[in-house]
Amino acid sequence: MATNKSVLNPDQRLKDIEELKSREFDILVIGGGVVGSGIALDAAARGLSVALVESDDFAAGTSSRSSKLIHGGLRYLEQFDFKLVREALHEREMMITEQAPHLVKPLAFVYPLHKKYFDRIYVGAGLILYDLLRGKLRAVPWHKHISFGEMRNEARSLNPEIVTGGLVYYDAQVDDARHTVMVARTAKDHGAHIVTGALVTQITRTPERVTGAIVTVDGHSINVKSKVVVAAAGIWNEELYQQFGIKPGYKIKMSKGAHIILPKDAIDAKNGIIIKTALSVLFIIPWGNEWLLGTTDTPYTEDREQPLADSADVDYILNEANKVLLPKLRREQILSVYAGLRPLVSPAKDSSTTKISREHSVDHPLKGFVSIAGGKYTTYRVMAADAVDAAVKDLDQKAPKSSTRTIPIIGAVGYKTLMKQIAGLAQSYSVSTVCVERMLNRYGSLISDIFEVISKDPSLAVEVLPGAGYIKAEVLYAATHEGARTLVDILARRLRLVMETSDHGLSVAHELATLVAPTLGWNEADISREVAAFEKYIATEMAAM
Ligand SMILES: Cc1cc2nc3c(=O)[nH]c(=O)nc-3n(C[C@H](O)[C@H](O)[C@H](O)COP(=O)(O)OP(=O)(O)OC[C@H]3O[C@@H](n4cnc5c(N)ncnc54)[C@H](O)[C@@H]3O)c2cc1C
Repeated sequence: MATNKSVLNPDQRLKDIEELKSREFDILVIGGGVVGSGIALDAAARGLSVALVESDDFAAGTSSRSSKLIHGGLRYLEQFDFKLVREALHEREMMITEQAPHLVKPLAFVYPLHKKYFDRIYVGAGLILYDLLRGKLRAVPWHKHISFGEMRNEARSLNPEIVTGGLVYYDAQVDDARHTVMVARTAKDHGAHIVTGALVTQITRTPERVTGAIVTVDGHSINVKSKVVVAAAGIWNEELYQQFGIKPGYKIKMSKGAHIILPKDAIDAKNGIIIKTALSVLFIIPWGNEWLLGTTDTPYTEDREQPLADSADVDYILNEANKVLLPKLRREQILSVYAGLRPLVSPAKDSSTTKISREHSVDHPLKGFVSIAGGKYTTYRVMAADAVDAAVKDLDQKAPKSSTRTIPIIGAVGYKTLMKQIAGLAQSYSVSTVCVERMLNRYGSLISDIFEVISKDPSLAVEVLPGAGYIKAEVLYAATHEGARTLVDILARRLRLVMETSDHGLSVAHELATLVAPTLGWNEADISREVAAFEKYIATEMAAM
C-alpha cells in the first residue's frame, strides 16, 4: 500500500501551497515533466529541501507525448552518438530490473530487410554494436537473425514481395505519463513539496544571485524563496530565459513528432516493427489492444501549448508504413492521433533537427539559477542527477552524491511477488485475472490501494467502458492519490482512454466527472465545465482525423 507520504491530492496540494508561502527551500524545480519530477526525487533523496511547481499537470508537456520507448536509440548509432546510446542502454537495464519493473517492459522489434546480403551485414553489424554497448549483464536477449520463413511467422503483415528476411532485437516500453506521475510520487515520498497548477512567472534576485520565484497558484501570486531555482521546463525553457531576462547558454529547437493509433487487428505481427525511412525510422509498436505508429520529425515554431498531429503527419505515417505492410492501412481505421514537441538542444541556427543529438545541456548562467534541456525520456535520471549536481554548487552546505540509481519507483518493491499471485488476487477481489495483471503493470504493489477502493465499494470494480480495460476504481484513485485535478488529467494521462479508444472517453465523461466530483470539490456547474473543457480538448487533439 502507498504510504500517506506519496499521496498527491487536493489536501496535500493545499498543504504544500502553505509550505511554498512560508519557508525557504534549497531547490525550487520548475516543471513536472519526467525531468523535473526526476530532479525533485534526486534532490529530496540527497536530503535537500525541495519544491516542484508545474503549471499544468504532471507530464502535460512532452512527457506524455513520446513514442514511449525506453531505448538506446538504434538510429543514434548512425550518428556515431555512442555515449548517448551506452548511457541510455544502461538506464534501460536499471529500469527494467530494479527501478521500475512494473512500468518498464522489454519489447522485441523486427527489423525487416530488403536487400538480401548488404542489409543483413549492415544492420547486423549495427545490432552487434548496440548489444555490445549494453554489455554482458542484460535483462533483454541479444538480437538474432531470422530467415524469410521465420519473418513470415513473426509478422505476416510485412509484404513478402519486398521483405527478404530480418533481425529481431530488444528494447523496452513504458506508459510515459503514468511513469512520470509515479516518479513525482516517489519524490513526494522522499519529502518533496509538489504543486501542480502553479505557474512560474518571474524569478526574484539580488545583484549577486537568484533568490526564488514568483508563482501564480489559484489566482494568487506567491513569492517562493529558494537558494537555487532549477528550470526543467523542456520546450518552455527558452521562454523562461526571456521572461527572466537571462542570456541562455543553449538554444532549444522544437521538433514535432506525431503518432497514430490503430486497433490490434489492423496489423498481423507478434512484436514491434522498425522501418528505416528516408529521414529517420518509423516504429510500429504494440500497445495493449492497439498499435502505436510514429513518428515524424519536423521543425516547429508554432504554439507550444497543444501541439497537434495534422493531416500531413497522418499521411506521412500511413505512407511509410504502407511501403512494407500488406494489407495496407486505411485512414478510417485510425483510433486517435497525438503529437509532441522534442526539446532539442540546438548548436547552430540552421542545423536540421534530425541530426541534432538528444544529449542534454545543463546551463548555470548565474548564481542560484540552473536549467536543463535536451536529452531523452530514457535518460531522465542522469539528467536529473546532473542538474542537481550543478545546483548544489550554489548551496552553503555540502550535499551527498545522487542515489537514484538504487531508488525504486513506488510500486516496484513487492511487484514481482504479486505477479505470482494473480489468480488468487483476482478471486479475492472478484475481478478478472487480465484486469489484475494489467493493474499490476500500471501500479505495481500499489495495486493494494485500488483493492482497498473496491473493497469499500464493489461497484467500482466495473469497467469504465466495455473492453477499454480500466475499472472505475482507477478513475477515483487518479483523483485521491495521483494528483489528477481535471477530467483531461484523468482520461488523457492517468488512464489512456483518449488515445486508446475511438470514443476517447467522451461517452462516459459526465459519469466519471460525477464520480470524482466529491474528491475534487466539484459542484454541478464545475462538472459541466469540466466535461465541456474535455470535449473541447478532444475536438482539438483529434482534428486531423
Ligand atoms: C514525438 C516524440 C517522441 C519521443 N519518443 C521518445 C522515446 O520513445 N524515448 C525517449 O527516451 N524519449 C523520447 N522522446 C523525448 C522525451 O519525450 C523528452 O525528452 C522528455 O519527455 C522531456 O521531458 P521534460 O521533463 O524535459 O519536458 P516536459 O515533459 O515538456 O516537461 C516540462 C514541464 O514544464 C512545465 N512548465 C512550462 N513552463 C512552466 C512554468 N512557467 N511554470 C511551471 N511549469 C512550467 C510544462 O507544463 C511541462 O509539464 C520523444 C519526444 C517526442 C516529442
